[in-house]
Amino acid sequence: MPAFAELKNEAAKAFGDFGTWIFDEWKRLNDALFHGKNIVGAIVWEETPQDRSLGYYDRIGNVIVLHKTLMRPVYPTTDLKWGLRRLNTRMVSDVLLHEMIHQRIHQTGGWMGENSHNNERFVDEVNRIANLLGLKITAKVIRSKSLRDKEIPFMESECLSLKELYHFPYLSRSRNYYYELSQQD
Ligand SMILES: [Zn+2]
Repeated sequence: MPAFAELKNEAAKAFGDFGTWIFDEWKRLNDALFHGKNIVGAIVWEETPQDRSLGYYDRIGNVIVLHKTLMRPVYPTTDLKWGLRRLNTRMVSDVLLHEMIHQRIHQTGGWMGENSHNNERFVDEVNRIANLLGLKITAKVIRSKSLRDKEIPFMESECLSLKELYHFPYLSRSRNYYYELSQQD
């Protein structure tokens, strides 16, 4: 896959160890969760549009944007050479995974529905991946009901909320999932 090697090389030049690591992680997730079928694009560390999220998928350019604040250390430190060792790799990996779901959906026909998270394709992917990750959750498209001229989201119990869909798999992980790794430093 020459495109992969080239893009990884460019990322290494631009972002050092972070660039190399994120491409290895992308490949690992692609093989483990997407049958190796996602088509690779650039992965960059910068600001996301309006700073609204930690990750962003640019469909036009097939670019995954990770917010540069994800490079920050987990805890305040006076060690200026914290580098990759201090990165919460589980957190960044989950942000990457979320954007890879958008990448997958876009590369296999896109979606129709209310928005990029509340639609059949996205919840199907969430259910499929949650199963592979061993997360015991269920996602369904959330429909609205009109109630006294207001649109009220109507959710079945035991299903992910819109917020949980927007932040999948982050809000579906066990409470200690991200902390456990930090303890290993
Ligand atoms: Zn998203």
